Amino acid sequence: IIQLYVPLNWFGTYYRAIQKNFVDMENMFDLLRENQEIIDAPGAGPLIVKHGQVEFSNVTFSYTPEKVILKNISFIVPAGKTVALVGASGAGKSTIIRLLFRFYDVEQGAVLVDGQNIKTITQSSLRRAIGVVPQDTVLFNNTIKYNIQYGRIEAADADIISAARNADIHERILSFPNGYDTQVGERGLRLSGGEKQRVAIARTILKEPAIVLLDEATSALDTQTERNIQAALNRVCVNRTTIIIAHRLSTIIHADEILVLKDGEIIERGKHEELISYNRTYHSMWEAQLQNDQEATKDSNDDAPESE
Ligand code: ATP
Repeated sequence: IIQLYVPLNWFGTYYRAIQKNFVDMENMFDLLRENQEIIDAPGAGPLIVKHGQVEFSNVTFSYTPEKVILKNISFIVPAGKTVALVGASGAGKSTIIRLLFRFYDVEQGAVLVDGQNIKTITQSSLRRAIGVVPQDTVLFNNTIKYNIQYGRIEAADADIISAARNADIHERILSFPNGYDTQVGERGLRLSGGEKQRVAIARTILKEPAIVLLDEATSALDTQTERNIQAALNRVCVNRTTIIIAHRLSTIIHADEILVLKDGEIIERGKHEELISYNRTYHSMWEAQLQNDQEATKDSNDDAPESE
């Protein structure tokens, strides 16, 4: 009983962390090697990545029998294109991402990568093809170098540095007490939210996955930092199939398709301009965001001493 109890309890801790956020799923899977429910089908072969197309075909899913979370979701992300998911909290955005990572199996319908049902391939090959930039990156208590290298363990130093440069964090690392050998994480140097996100970007650049999942940070970063991160994010997504959970609509106006989710259903879909012209949910979300941004600017002006 003890033997069973300890790992379950330990699993519970991470499980709650996962539920709260979509956390760092790549790390999470390494920690939870014995994820019990999802097992490779007998004789499953590896995913064969051809171009990196992602398809959700009539996907219905629930965590518990009482409540259906996703209802008949269908969309295609053509190779190299970007699809953005927007919608209120609880609409099902993270669930879509978790299903693509095969955190859970779908009940009806299928998730396909380059035409292969992800149920029929090995989980390790699926996860090798996907890079994740979460909202809140969990760092290992290890060197900053290791934290980036985790994207591709066998990577050469020159590649690690190049990834750090592309993620716009190289200069910052050089300013740390021991440069790339500086210990970070809970027991080392604490990094800011923006820095941690750039570590995740560097990791993903190093990994060179065909598919990238981005969970945009909700917490406001200062404008310059945000611009730098946005540029680094754009670099990581170039020529890769990208699914982004967007909180700030301004970052997705160039997305190839935007899916507006409500209570597990796609209620509107299209490009930014089209959705604006529909004058419905997306349009109101956009207006609300503009309003918000204006108030934020006004507030920061009010803070200036001359307003006395
Ligand atoms: P947010 O923007 O707040 O992250 P979201 O659109 O990503 O929200 P999901 O996290 O996908 O929403 O959650 C969709 C629904 O599924 C919510 O009602 C949530 O309470 C429920 N849910 C999420 N994870 C679980 C779980 N592990 N077990 C049961 N229900 C869950």
